[in-house]
Amino acid sequence: MPLSPDQIAEIDAARATPRQTLRAVSEGMEAHLYRAQEVLDHGFIRVIDYMGDDAAIVQAARVSYGAGTKHVSNDEGLIRYLMRHWHSTPFEMCEIKLHVKLPVFVARQWIRHRTANVNEYSARYSILDREFYIPAPDQLAAQSTVNNQGRGAVLQGEEAARVLEILKRDAGQAFDSYESMLSQEGQQGLARELARMNLPMNTYTQWYWKTDLHNLFHFLRLRADAHAQYEIRVYAEAIAACVKDWVPLAFAAFEDYRMGGVTLSAKAIDCVKRMLNGEKVTQETSGMSKGEWREFQVVLG
Ligand SMILES: Cc1cc2nc3c(=O)[nH]c(=O)nc-3n(C[C@H](O)[C@H](O)[C@H](O)COP(=O)(O)OP(=O)(O)OC[C@H]3O[C@@H](n4cnc5c(N)ncnc54)[C@H](O)[C@@H]3O)c2cc1C
Repeated sequence: MPLSPDQIAEIDAARATPRQTLRAVSEGMEAHLYRAQEVLDHGFIRVIDYMGDDAAIVQAARVSYGAGTKHVSNDEGLIRYLMRHWHSTPFEMCEIKLHVKLPVFVARQWIRHRTANVNEYSARYSILDREFYIPAPDQLAAQSTVNNQGRGAVLQGEEAARVLEILKRDAGQAFDSYESMLSQEGQQGLARELARMNLPMNTYTQWYWKTDLHNLFHFLRLRADAHAQYEIRVYAEAIAACVKDWVPLAFAAFEDYRMGGVTLSAKAIDCVKRMLNGEKVTQETSGMSKGEWREFQVVLG
């Protein structure tokens, strides 16, 4: 279970004491505030704070005095225009702060997104919990034969059982050693900052992660994408669900132009034009590499 009864009680208490504010409030986001959404076997995401809403994006774009505009359709049109034309700074006016519990190997991918503010749980100061990510059976897959950076068929039967056993055993043994290095009767015990060295990458860590909506969209574009590793993708998907409720107009534009849209190269646009003119274009006559052509075919469906 990702949260203890005490932690759940703290969250309930925070949600039970609403305060009045003059600031912009997103009703959709208020429903998520503080609540933990479980991700993987012991992880979660929860929104700790946020600033702004769809109207704040419009307000910043127009540098206006009031709270957004008079017509939702105007707001929607402007937000779509901003997204379409990569006019990104108005989206930076919205911010989100998340509390995330995640395996260390996921954190390593996540931390590559440099445009965020992060504060991580200190394993120099505190003792880590005995919690490891163990993939569910349907995620225990073999190396992909077509994609060097991916997985293929799900392992079955004895092989799946053997792998699962190794993952559990190694993590358990490493944690036993961690605990025994920290404290043993009649010994001084190794410092926490050193004892953690032997722990595996599936150990859970936690952090507070704050970013603005523009950079969050960039993160989601990369990490909620089918090419992202499953273990980070499920976090991105959980965040995306909150963002959809927080800024529905901006999220719809993001889904349309970024998640659902594609960027075509000049060569690809030339091919589309030639195809529309009735020409039979092949990879050889397209001017594209085999890889580009393959991806272009996927875009064309
Ligand atoms: C499917 C996938 C596979 C990947 N595989 C690998 C891999 O094998 N090895 C590996 O090392 N990484 C890998 N990465 C990580 C990837 O290369 C990026 O580091 C990561 O996605 C963060 O992207 P970003 O730099 O655009 O994001 P952020 O750091 O959030 O930056 C956002 C944007 O800010 C700007 N920016 C931020 N900092 C700078 C800067 N210092 N200089 C100039 N512009 C800046 C850039 O425009 C950038 O796009 C992979 C990522 C994905 C999604």
